[in-house]
Amino acid sequence: MKFQKPPGTQDVLPGSAELWQFVEQTARELCRRYHYREIRTPMFEATELFQRGVGETTDIVEKEMYTFEDRGGRSMTLRPEGTAGVVRAYVENKLYGEPDIAKLYYIGPMFRYERAQAGRYRQFHQFGVEAIGSADPALDAEVIALGYSFYKAVGLKDVAVEINSVGTPQVRAAFREKLLGFLAPMKESLCKDCQSRMERNPLRVLDCKVDQAKFEGAPSILDSLDEECSAHFARVRECLDAMKIPYSINPRLVRGLDYYTHTAFEYKAQGIGSIDTVGGGGRYNGLVADIGGEDRPGVGLGIGLERTLLLLEKQGAGPALGSAVDVYFIAMGERAEREAPGIVQRLREAGLAVERDYQGRKTKAQFKAADRIGARFAAILGDEELDKREIALKDLASQEQRNVPLAGLADSIRNLITTEKGIVTNDA
Ligand code: ATP
Ligand code: MG
Repeated sequence: MKFQKPPGTQDVLPGSAELWQFVEQTARELCRRYHYREIRTPMFEATELFQRGVGETTDIVEKEMYTFEDRGGRSMTLRPEGTAGVVRAYVENKLYGEPDIAKLYYIGPMFRYERAQAGRYRQFHQFGVEAIGSADPALDAEVIALGYSFYKAVGLKDVAVEINSVGTPQVRAAFREKLLGFLAPMKESLCKDCQSRMERNPLRVLDCKVDQAKFEGAPSILDSLDEECSAHFARVRECLDAMKIPYSINPRLVRGLDYYTHTAFEYKAQGIGSIDTVGGGGRYNGLVADIGGEDRPGVGLGIGLERTLLLLEKQGAGPALGSAVDVYFIAMGERAEREAPGIVQRLREAGLAVERDYQGRKTKAQFKAADRIGARFAAILGDEELDKREIALKDLASQEQRNVPLAGLADSIRNLITTEKGIVTNDA
């Protein structure tokens, strides 16, 4: 029998795993600078958490969740996004009891039953942050800036920030009527999705890719904002200006999730077929109370890591990955073979990355292997060296070679690596 990975999932193999680590480390480093601390929540939660927290009329809850009954008869769902679980943990662990606001981040897999294609998977990964406990518009700007800095730090070019205000639930209710008035005459000409969204969540009609052109003259939610909403939005823009974060205002941006209030934003980039959104987020002032906590405002973002990596590859950007192996150890002869495990172990304990042969290959083949894996040095131990308690060290880049004492070998190698000089022979 032959097994294959489930549709919409990916194996991250050595070679690209290093890129993943780079992207994740970049995220962690940024969170350190902005002072967001990591939170790890379960990969599955009670189904009801997402029904409430994400919203019944969203694509996610309507058709994308991996829901199953556990052996105790409870309905569980693999998390389709990160915010609901983080907010649940925030409430359950009473993080609002702290004098400071909670600034949290997560990196991990999410699950949605979608039609798989490039940039759209059934298991994918998000880096996200949530800042809970303040309604300050400067915090919205901080979160937007953090996401923007992330794309920049990993090396992506041409990521555009779009922002909008979706107001408060009251503002949205009034806008909904206006919008329905605009949409009603064209209802028959709209796609099936739009027609059903008109009934359940009309704002999301504006999100439709198929019918976009028909919405040229649609009313703008920005004209429906009350004074408080307008002031909040103006302050967010002021902060972004001060931070020199470039952005444009997109009054049609509503985002898929139901829980947003005030600021909504997306990061856009071209290059993955028809997909142009690489991340997004917004403010969610009602969410904490909605899922049973004390009423606390929050703002957050979610960034798709597969899409980030796809674009990095497409743009030929990303880091140059250095050699992973410092030393390839080559034993010549039986005596050297007997000493090999001990020497290799000591070098590793001293912090060096060391590889050796386990396939009984000839010396020449071992040198080839050392080149293939990009080792910095070959350390060659033969009878002659052993007699003098020395070892031959060959710089595989410059091909220069010299003997160094076995005692203090790790230090000798480290010195050569940190001075970046490689081996300089006496007559050089
Ligand atoms: P889309 O409109 O592309 O379906 P979305 O609105 O469902 O996106 P969000 O729920 O806002 O996406 O998730 C934030 C980010 O997570 C997205 O911008 C994207 O980068 C990533 N993402 C969402 N769904 C997937 C998926 N199925 N596969 C890969 N990445 C995804
Ligand atoms: Mg989606």
